[in-house]
Amino acid sequence: MSDKRDYYEVLGVSKDADETELKKAFRSLARKYHPDKNDAPDADEKFKEIQEAYAVLSDSSKRSNYDRFGHNSPGGSPFGPGGFQGFNINLDDILGGDFFSSFFGGGRQRSSRRQGHDILIRHEVDLKAILDGSSAEMDAELPILCIDCEGTGAKDGITKQCSECDGSGQVRVRQQIGPFVQDSVRACSSCDGSGRISAAKCKTCAGDGLQSESQKLRFTVPKGAQDGTRLRMRGKGQPAPKGNGDSGDLFIELVIEEHQWFERNGMDLIMSLPLGFSDLALGTNVTLPHIDDKDLVIKVPSGTNSGDTITIPARGLPSSRGVGRGDVVVLCKLHMPSKLDKSSRKSLEELRVKLSGSKDMITKIIDDANERRR
Ligand SMILES: [Zn+2]
Ligand SMILES: [Zn+2]
Repeated sequence: MSDKRDYYEVLGVSKDADETELKKAFRSLARKYHPDKNDAPDADEKFKEIQEAYAVLSDSSKRSNYDRFGHNSPGGSPFGPGGFQGFNINLDDILGGDFFSSFFGGGRQRSSRRQGHDILIRHEVDLKAILDGSSAEMDAELPILCIDCEGTGAKDGITKQCSECDGSGQVRVRQQIGPFVQDSVRACSSCDGSGRISAAKCKTCAGDGLQSESQKLRFTVPKGAQDGTRLRMRGKGQPAPKGNGDSGDLFIELVIEEHQWFERNGMDLIMSLPLGFSDLALGTNVTLPHIDDKDLVIKVPSGTNSGDTITIPARGLPSSRGVGRGDVVVLCKLHMPSKLDKSSRKSLEELRVKLSGSKDMITKIIDDANERRR
């Protein structure tokens, strides 16, 4: 004999309690004994007991079995040889209104209308495009409902009633989630929720109701857009199956083209500039065409070291909020010619004698090293 308490007693309801009463009793007891709310040492056990009682009584076949045999059903526990294992229910789910429909089924009926798939297209843009926030245009092959069968997939548009759902477009699905049985209504997969299926397949679309059409897409590239930014065009995605429902969305993912010399760092544009020794020593001006169509004049001051940076303010990319621009940051690098002709070599030899600066530094390093050894 089982020493288990009677399920009706556990929930504190009468033998003829209906679904609403069961839910009400379960909800208030589950709140009271949820381990997050109740520190009593037996709260866990109690909570499990309540769940088990509700799982049995809310399921009509388990309930009638229980009414006949009590805890000693000839088939053993309705939850298998291991008995009821409890179910980890979030307290918020119990307190929230949607709990029963999401866990126990019944409740809210799912719409039989279905949505078409979303489509993702990648589109390359250059830095200039995101500098101005320009408008762009592209051609894309997009799915539309088949014109010949108006999306039904049926030859000559002739359909017949779906036998799977008897034309209702909906089927009841019974699903086991943990110990609980969930009943829900789903769109019938045979007829995609339309209740009709084709008598014969449409030849144009092979029965799937879709064909593709070349379309011109016009959109605006947002100022300062990041690589991977997705633009959404509502309803431009794949139509819902047989046109029964909303079309999906079309996403255009912006891929920012790599620039020849600029690297992007947020709003800033970074470039490295190779300069000769004399340019670094004497200073120079370098003028480059820039993405904003105004020349970029880089003023390299005399005595610049390789590795120094020069910042040219407000010539970088705009912020996505549209206010201000980042900077252009130029990294100066000494460019060493790989080969020297005779006369250059001679001039440099003379220079080496004159410019003893670096020689002094090396002498100092050697002195320091010797100092440390002592
Ligand atoms: Zn067709
Ligand atoms: Zn159907």
